[in-house]
Amino acid sequence: MARYTDAVCRLCRREQEKLFLKGTKCNTEKCPITKRNYAPGQHGQAKSRMKLSNYGLQLREKQKVKRMYGVLERQFRRYFKIASKTKGVTGKVLLQILERRLDNVIFRLGVGISRAQARQIVRHNFVYVNTKGVNIPSFQVNKDDVIELKAKEKAQQKIRDNLDLAKDRDVPAWLEFDAGALKAKVVRLPEKEDIQQPIQEQLIVELYSK
Ligand code: SF4
Repeated sequence: MARYTDAVCRLCRREQEKLFLKGTKCNTEKCPITKRNYAPGQHGQAKSRMKLSNYGLQLREKQKVKRMYGVLERQFRRYFKIASKTKGVTGKVLLQILERRLDNVIFRLGVGISRAQARQIVRHNFVYVNTKGVNIPSFQVNKDDVIELKAKEKAQQKIRDNLDLAKDRDVPAWLEFDAGALKAKVVRLPEKEDIQQPIQEQLIVELYSK
């Protein structure tokens, strides 16, 4: 599967917002956004001062959300198609699809300190959904699904270290997590309010509806 492999802090700087792509470094003074909150590159500062058109605002919001969840354009567009055909408010359904990705769930639980690391944990066959091994990061969880982590001693220690690093992060209310047993349950589907970062999903809907 294709994925973005360039320096991730550049992505936050481009969006002039913390997207929390690097885990623990993101909450420290080492985060480049704290010192250089403007777009990367030679003309970055000038670019960041420019007033954006409506289209520009829509495009930036889409790029931001795509980058936050580590999803490439083709898949993001596919998610939008599914959302627009599903009953409900398209923007909210789109966010729900993104939140329900298995790699995002592993990140939200604090088992992975970033979504990229959570994706690796899924890929390495450590995650079981309803007792079956699932190694597909884009797998969609459903209400009442039970997610378990099973790993050999060394990997399990790494997972517990991650949980320790993420102890200040709240597990969202749509997930119930027994950290001791490394077992979680989806108690309900996620709502927009469960996502702590500000997202203007309506801008994305407007962009793709043109
Ligand atoms: Fe880098 Fe994290 Fe800061 Fe983003 S929030 S710029 S990923 S350290």
